[in-house]
Amino acid sequence: MVTCKICLNKFQTLRFKSKRVCICGRCTNALNKYKEVAEGSYNAARELLLIGMLRRATIDANLPTAPLWKQQKAEYILGNIDIEVDRVLSSWINKLVADESNKTKIFKIIRANRRGLLHMDRPHRWGYPKNWKDVAHNIRMLDNFTCVSCSESSDELHVHHIVYVSNFGTHQATNLVTLCRICHKKEHKRIFDFGENMLSPDIPPEI
Ligand SMILES: [Zn+2]
Ligand SMILES: [Zn+2]
Repeated sequence: MVTCKICLNKFQTLRFKSKRVCICGRCTNALNKYKEVAEGSYNAARELLLIGMLRRATIDANLPTAPLWKQQKAEYILGNIDIEVDRVLSSWINKLVADESNKTKIFKIIRANRRGLLHMDRPHRWGYPKNWKDVAHNIRMLDNFTCVSCSESSDELHVHHIVYVSNFGTHQATNLVTLCRICHKKEHKRIFDFGENMLSPDIPPEI
């Protein structure tokens, strides 16, 4: 059994399994369908924490049976809510990122960002990096010049973005996999509900 690093479910087989990333078909489709950078999910996570902390502190501050220290702490939190939220935010996110039972969209997006598949914010420039040829060569080398999907080692190996560039996927190694021509073609025939994005397929400029 292998674990998808995005939903943390266990599977017999995954859509993509390399030394750098393991991702299931459903998560691959979902990340391409969201068409979102990660920033909004980090903001949404902060908002969730803020609401939870406010709720708890309000209860504690107004509970006559609560010990004095608890009431005082709650009042302090209510008076310094933004500082307090920011103080615990990253450890709270870390805990939820590691929590297998957390399958919510925002945490899938945060996991994808932390693993380098998805951009934090909209890229300043689109397209491929100047050194794409070297990047792509390095990926083929890391994948032992074989297709990660069917294990063929044909001489026509493409480098595919798991999260498409047009859906804010990065050019980092964790978002890149080596595919043979046939598997690459299959991959791009899948329907992700792209709409206008069907017009901008993610085909590398060189082979
Ligand atoms: Zn998954
Ligand atoms: Zn293949």
